[in-house]
Amino acid sequence: MINLALGLTLLLSAFSFAAEEPPTILVSLAPYKFFVERIANGTVSVLLMVPVGASAHTYEPTPKQMVRASTGNIWFTIGESFEAKAVPAIRSHNPQLQTVDLRQGVDLIISDPQSGQCCCNTHCQDPHIWLSARQAKTQVKTIADALKQRYPTHAALYEKNLEALQKELATLDTTITQELVHLNNRTILVSHPSYAYFCRDYNLKQLSIEFEGKDPTPRQLTQLLNQARQEHIRKIFVQPQYSRKGANMFAKELDATVIVLDPYSEEYFDSMHKIAHAIAD
Ligand SMILES: [Zn+2]
Repeated sequence: MINLALGLTLLLSAFSFAAEEPPTILVSLAPYKFFVERIANGTVSVLLMVPVGASAHTYEPTPKQMVRASTGNIWFTIGESFEAKAVPAIRSHNPQLQTVDLRQGVDLIISDPQSGQCCCNTHCQDPHIWLSARQAKTQVKTIADALKQRYPTHAALYEKNLEALQKELATLDTTITQELVHLNNRTILVSHPSYAYFCRDYNLKQLSIEFEGKDPTPRQLTQLLNQARQEHIRKIFVQPQYSRKGANMFAKELDATVIVLDPYSEEYFDSMHKIAHAIAD
């Protein structure tokens, strides 16, 4: 009897605790955790689906993560393939889960399947859409609009935070433009082709060692090596999520330096500045 009463008390306190908890918002990648937190400012709890250091293109959520994700109210998706599998699985437990596609209104890059720039996306749409401060302005507005609609009591706060964030993104864009405008060598060599949006904004060209999400063939390697020599490549950018094997080989051949950059970092502004500095340096 005592146990039952205690159990019930615990259960009730768990319920009242749950009632006070902020709603859970799901994001696929760490930069979006940053964006949502900047706009929502403590009114929501953000659950990151792809842990820092994992590749979003091949990621599969763990069962534990799926249980946590089933408490989600909104998922801000970006078109990674794991989302397409996870959303219906979560909805079977939580039909209320709302998805908001952050690609809406974004000027998407659709690559030629032969270009080697396609990464792992089946339709060859480049998924790295946050790596453009200009396109990020559209995405943070989509986030703020969805939050305002779902939680109208905080609408004024979200609007204010959105304005501040968009201003900061505009400043970031101006700063990087100025930093890179006079650069002579405008070609970068990367291990994984994450930088198409960044390159488009700042008139750069991206060469990727990884080809279509796979290791290059010997013929592709030779071609790329020749191209990298012609373009006087002295730096190769790698990221923690992907193999450095090819980059190390290229570094030897080209007498180039391997530099680690994390475009998937939650420290969005810091990461964008680091990318620009590394290219400009
Ligand atoms: Zn990628």
